[in-house]
Amino acid sequence: MIIVSACLLGFPCRYDGRSKPCRQVIELARLSPVITICPERDGGLPAPRPPCEISEGDGRDVLAGRAQVISETGDILTTAYLAGAEQALEAAKRCGATLAFLKDRSPSCGYGHIMRNGSPVEGIGVCAALLEREGVEIIAF
Ligand code: SF4
Repeated sequence: MIIVSACLLGFPCRYDGRSKPCRQVIELARLSPVITICPERDGGLPAPRPPCEISEGDGRDVLAGRAQVISETGDILTTAYLAGAEQALEAAKRCGATLAFLKDRSPSCGYGHIMRNGSPVEGIGVCAALLEREGVEIIAF
């Protein structure tokens, strides 16, 4: 069982109300059962929604309480991001998933990069940080 960011499979759950289908992930999902997650949607946020960024550091700092997730419109949405990440972790545990294909550059799913001031910087998102901490192997797309 593999955890997959829903937008990579074509679900229109991104902040802009669109998807980001990845042909490689769609092909891999045909070979293995998957659990789709969208931590931002699962945390209660709508699509479309204002884009968010992590205030400093990355998702690990959000988990540690050292940073916040803030929307373009200035709303602090850390609680929703943490709730969505917890739901993804629960799904992984329930299904025994130890591998995740996540969408890079997202403040939730990013693994390798997140956005800061509109440009990619090194870092990982909130959900990626929680899954990583719990031993889930992550591959970014
Ligand atoms: Fe895709 Fe993850 Fe963003 Fe949801 S939170 S739209 S799954 S990158």
